[in-house]
Amino acid sequence: MRITDVEVHVYAWPRPKPIRNGKYTYTTVVFNLVHVRTDEGLTGIGWGGATASTRPGEVFRSLVEHFKVALIGADPFTYRRLWANMWLPKIVGRRGLTTQVLSAIDIALWDLMGKAVGQPVAKLLGGYTDRIPAYIAGGYYEEGKGLKELAREMEENLALGAKAVKMKIGGASIAEDVERVRVVRETVGPQVKLLVDANNAYSVHEAIAIARKLEPYDVFWFEEPVAPDDYRGHARVARATTIPVATGENEYTRYGFRDLIAHEAAAILNPDAQILGGITEFMQVAALAAAHDLPIAPHGAQEIHVHLVTAIPNGLLLEVYRETVDPLRSQIFTEPLRLDKNGYVRVPDRPGLGVEPNYELLQRYRVA
Ligand SMILES: [Mg+2]
Repeated sequence: MRITDVEVHVYAWPRPKPIRNGKYTYTTVVFNLVHVRTDEGLTGIGWGGATASTRPGEVFRSLVEHFKVALIGADPFTYRRLWANMWLPKIVGRRGLTTQVLSAIDIALWDLMGKAVGQPVAKLLGGYTDRIPAYIAGGYYEEGKGLKELAREMEENLALGAKAVKMKIGGASIAEDVERVRVVRETVGPQVKLLVDANNAYSVHEAIAIARKLEPYDVFWFEEPVAPDDYRGHARVARATTIPVATGENEYTRYGFRDLIAHEAAAILNPDAQILGGITEFMQVAALAAAHDLPIAPHGAQEIHVHLVTAIPNGLLLEVYRETVDPLRSQIFTEPLRLDKNGYVRVPDRPGLGVEPNYELLQRYRVA
C-alpha cells in the first residue's frame, strides 16, 4: 500500500457564547481534518485544532503541504521512518504548530494501518483493556454564568453518567474560585472525582495559596497550575500541597516529557497525541511515564485517546468534552462516544480509530 495524497479540510464554527478559562477566551471551534489517501482506496484520518488563528487553517494547510513531500509514495506501515523524515528539528522546529500538524498526519497513518488490517488502533497498540473511566471536562467561565448555572452544568454531567468532572479555576479571584469549587463539590457529592484546571494562569505563590484552600474539597488533581515550561514551579507547587499536580497538555515529544519527569513536576501526566507528536510519540511518552510509575490521563480528543489510554497499563482517566466545550461535539462524528452508567467509555470495536466524520454536517462549516 502506498500513500498517494495528503489533503486537509478546514472547518470552523462559532460557539453560541465565548468560553473562557484561566488564560484564554475561545469564540470559534476550528477543526483541521487531514486525509491520507492510498492506492488501495483506503483513507486514514487525523485531526487537530490550532484555534488561536484568526484565519483558520491557513498555517495548518501550508504545513501539510510541506510534510506531504516526505509521504507521497511511502508505505504507511513504515510510520517510524515517516515520523523521522517529517521531524527535522533544524528545519521545522521542535515544538508548536509544526509538531501539531505532524501529529495529525501521524494519527491519520495509525487510522489507516488499523483500517488496512481490520483492527481498532487500540489493539495495534497493545489492547491492555477495552474500557476506561472517563471524566467530563468543562466548568468554564461564561458571560452570565453564575454559581447556579455552574451547578446545573455539573448536574447534567452526572446525568450523562460522569463519576468524575473537571472545572476551570484561575479566571477569577482566589476567593471566588474557592467558592465555585465548594459549590461544585456540594453539587456532585463526596463520591465523584473533582478535578481543577488553571490553564497556566497562576504564579507559583498564587497556585500554592489556592491549592491549600482547595484541600478540604478533596480535589483529585490540580492541572497546569503554572506556566507549562516552568517545571521547577510545578515541582514547588507539588511539594507544597497534598493535591496531586497534573500537567503535560502543552508539552511536546519524548524530550519535553523527559525533562518534565526529571523535575518531578507532576504526579499525573496529560499528554495530547494531537500536540506532542502523534500516536507514535505518545506511546514513547507513555513508556517513559511507565518507567517512572506515572499514570497517563490524556488531554482532549476522546475519539483518539480512548484507543491510546486503553492500550497501555498506566492509563488512568479519559477526558471527555461535550457541548459545553464545543456546540457540535456530539455531531462531528457519526458515532459519538458515550459514557456508560458507571462513567466508563468503551473502545469502539471498529477498524482504525473507528470514527467517521459527519461530512454532511461539516460541509456547512468548511472554510478551506
Ligand atoms: Mg487543561
